[in-house]
Amino acid sequence: MNTNLTTDRPTFVTHLECSMTGERYEADQLHNLSRVGRPLLVRYDLDGVKAAVSRDTIAARETDLWRWRELLPVRKSASIVSLGEIETPLVPIPASGGANVLVKDEGRLPTGSFKARGLVMAVAMARELGVTRIAMPTNGNAGAALAAYASRCGIETIILAPQETPEINIREMALQGARVYRVNGQIDDCGAIVGKGAAEGRWFDFSTLKEPYRIEGKKTMGLELAAQMGWELPDAIFYPTGGGTGLIGMWKAFDELEKLGWIGAKRPRMFAVQATGCAPIVRAFEKGVDHAERWENAATVAAGIRVPRAVGDFLILRAVRESGGTALAVDDDAILAAVDACAKRDGVLICPEGGATLAAYRKALGEGLVDAEERVILFNCATGLKYPMPAAGEMLDRNAEIDLASL
Ligand SMILES: *Cc1c(COP(=O)(O)O)cnc(C)c1O
Repeated sequence: MNTNLTTDRPTFVTHLECSMTGERYEADQLHNLSRVGRPLLVRYDLDGVKAAVSRDTIAARETDLWRWRELLPVRKSASIVSLGEIETPLVPIPASGGANVLVKDEGRLPTGSFKARGLVMAVAMARELGVTRIAMPTNGNAGAALAAYASRCGIETIILAPQETPEINIREMALQGARVYRVNGQIDDCGAIVGKGAAEGRWFDFSTLKEPYRIEGKKTMGLELAAQMGWELPDAIFYPTGGGTGLIGMWKAFDELEKLGWIGAKRPRMFAVQATGCAPIVRAFEKGVDHAERWENAATVAAGIRVPRAVGDFLILRAVRESGGTALAVDDDAILAAVDACAKRDGVLICPEGGATLAAYRKALGEGLVDAEERVILFNCATGLKYPMPAAGEMLDRNAEIDLASL
């Protein structure tokens, strides 16, 4: 029995806040974006949290996502639909990465990606606040996580995916009970359709950062990293950036942990990694601007970061700049070469988005942006098993002479 799920613990959400203007919004009510069309952030009574738990209390609990209950928005345990949100391991990749490189392997989570962190939280809150039908645009993994959690508790889901979404993701969503459609466009084109239906009152809009609770789920990556590393954050984090939920969430986590006095002021340099075929954040970073223009004709094998436009662009850019990190783009050849090297040499089958972080790390090392002595975390956000792999498996005829020496 996981006591993180069976014990109701005190909760500390005080309100929500517009990430752009700071305008205050009530907790315990359904919200999408703020009045100015930007993400809402959940705020907590951190003094209350500090009085209620210590980091040692949390460290002594079962090591899953729900050990962080006091720093999460869900009020009632009964709202939680759990599929086993484990703490993901930090796996060394000495051959393809280096002696000080660890991969946080998020592919071990339910539905095979870290989208489970965001969606388990968002679905619990939707359930707590009485939502019965949800629609979402997705490049694959978010839709799969939504389908699994929502179907399990009887919430209807309508999911729109770009035409080129891999077949396996489409079928996975359908098998997990979603109504899935392909759209001849990119993820933001799918999002426009979802937004139109939401405006007509047909469903609740679950687009990235358009509801406030996915960030809180993704925040647990930062909380977890701190605990796993003995409350001392790494020197650099490489994060494959699409909508940026995870990067924004981790940055928020570090801030909350420092306010609690559980970590010091030291922060990792945040590296936002994109593909050269879709790099709006990198372009905005290099131009020194706060908002990113839409990336036209987006194309990359790393579907999770094929996001032409991010509603939280300024939050991603702010976190990267405050951290002293940078935004980097790598091309598909480098991404696939990194996946290949990590699988062949370290036995870790990462996804293309994870490959992008490894390729970006190698690039940053070459450019002197990071030192080989520094402690670095690369995010592998999904299991490589969900992605197309190079063809292999030449046929052997067992009835003919087999030249064993040639095998
Ligand atoms: C969604 C996704 C990303 C991007 O995550 P964000 O936090 O939305 O930027 C990266 N990799 C994979 C595998 C994903 O599914």
